[in-house]
Amino acid sequence: MNYVIEPAPIPTLAVAGISERFPVNRIFCVGRNYAAHAREMGKDPERDPPFFFMKPANAAVDASMPVSIPYPPKTKNFHHEIELVVAIGKGGRDIAVADALDHVYGYGVGLDMTRRDLQLDARDKGRPWEFGKSFSLSAPVGALSRVADSGHVAEGAISVTVNGGARQTSDISKLIWSVSECIAYLSEYEMLEPGDIIMTGTPEGVNAVVAGDVMQGDIAGLASITVKVEA
Ligand code: MN
Repeated sequence: MNYVIEPAPIPTLAVAGISERFPVNRIFCVGRNYAAHAREMGKDPERDPPFFFMKPANAAVDASMPVSIPYPPKTKNFHHEIELVVAIGKGGRDIAVADALDHVYGYGVGLDMTRRDLQLDARDKGRPWEFGKSFSLSAPVGALSRVADSGHVAEGAISVTVNGGARQTSDISKLIWSVSECIAYLSEYEMLEPGDIIMTGTPEGVNAVVAGDVMQGDIAGLASITVKVEA
C-alpha cells in the first residue's frame, strides 16, 4: 500500500505479562453508570438505558508505566474520571447478554479525562460534548490484564488519589449497567470490532486537577496507573 501522506500510527496499549500490544480501534464511553455520580452531575440515577459517547483512538495513552499528559487548552476545569476499561477481543453485533463476556480480551484501569467546563456548557446548550470529552491524550489506560490470566471483573474496589489524597472511591459492583449489559446494548447500535475499548463510567467524586498533580488509579486485581499532569 502506498499512501499519499504518512498514515497516523496505530495507538496501542500494553498487555500485562507479554510483549505483544493491544491495538486500539474505537473508544466507547458509558455516561452516568454509577448512581452517586449521576446525582453529583445533577441527574436522576434511574435505570434508563445506558448512553454512550466516543473518544478518538488517539485519546488512548499507554499508562503501563508512570506517564505524563498535557494540561489541555481552553479549559479551567480539567477533571479526572477513574473507570474500568474493557478491551474487546472478538467483534459482533446483537450480542446477547449471556454471551457478552466471550467478547472481552481483558480489563484495565483508565481515566476519562474531561474538560468539565466545556462539557457542561455544551450539554446545557444541547450541543455535542466532543470538545469536553473527545480530545487527544484524554484516556490514559494501564496494562491490560487478560481474561485468560485474571478472569472477569465484576466487583472490587475502584479508586483514584491525587497527590496521595483520596478523590474517588467506590466498587465495580455499583455499576448500574454491568459490563455484559453494556456490550450487549452497544452491539445493537454498532457492530463491535476487535480493538474497541469500552470505558464503563465513573463513580462519584470527580474533581479538578492542575499542572503538577499526580493521579494514581487503582482497581482491585488490575495494574495501577500513575499519571502526572504537565503544564
Ligand atoms: Mn466517564
